[in-house]
Amino acid sequence: MIKFSKGNVKLQRLKSVPSLAKYFAKTGRSTKKVYSFDLLSGFSCPFADKCKSKVVQINDRRKVVDGANCEFRCFSASQEATYTNVYNLRKSNFDAMRSIKNRSGMVKLLNDNLPKDAGIVRIHVAGDMFNLRYFDAWMLVAVANPNVLFYAYTKSLRYWVDRLNIIPDNFILTASRGGREDHLIDEHNLREAVVVYSEAEAEKLGYEIDHDDSHAADPTKRNESFALLIHGIQPKGSKASESIKQLKKDNVEFSYSK
Ligand code: SF4
Repeated sequence: MIKFSKGNVKLQRLKSVPSLAKYFAKTGRSTKKVYSFDLLSGFSCPFADKCKSKVVQINDRRKVVDGANCEFRCFSASQEATYTNVYNLRKSNFDAMRSIKNRSGMVKLLNDNLPKDAGIVRIHVAGDMFNLRYFDAWMLVAVANPNVLFYAYTKSLRYWVDRLNIIPDNFILTASRGGREDHLIDEHNLREAVVVYSEAEAEKLGYEIDHDDSHAADPTKRNESFALLIHGIQPKGSKASESIKQLKKDNVEFSYSK
């Protein structure tokens, strides 16, 4: 059994983006909605590096463990440590998807459980494309649902590169810099999102800061790179945690979701 989740606070902001209005059109009595589909953070992210953290369960306690190269702790891993229901849901989704050994089985499970009123689906607030079969399954789900917009951040860049010329129009990808295969971003000129520690850093890169996920989701921006301000609970004393203190002091909006 798998379950899609109602979009979090940040994702709900997509409803106010004019270019995405058609995905929230009314059908009959209901209005289309935004959902996410999530997996267990870290465990499902084979190419995560600077962001890599995961939750380990010791007896009945859960704890975030940062990867060796962690520079900014995975926000969704922190959620999994705090909220039992969130952890259980993502674990159950991940267990279900990785237990399927063929692409058609994955497509069927995702399609059968895709909410009927889905207008936009963020593939993974938590988790990543854990193998090529799973990546392909999502592409096929997008093909089967041309009126739904699917989008994902990914560090599993080799799967994207493998399918570069056959990505469906309603399947919008962003390379999330900070993974083990960042060189593919430059080699293939992939559109990217970069975590920055300040507004000045984004400006230096020449990237707009995304506050509502519209840069990631909007098909008209599919080739525009952008920045994300550091957020989440960061390790004490790290550069990331000091930056968050400064952002708070400067009254900069940087945290959007629950
Ligand atoms: S790829 Fe995403 S979900 Fe995975 S560890 Fe990094 S930030 Fe967390």
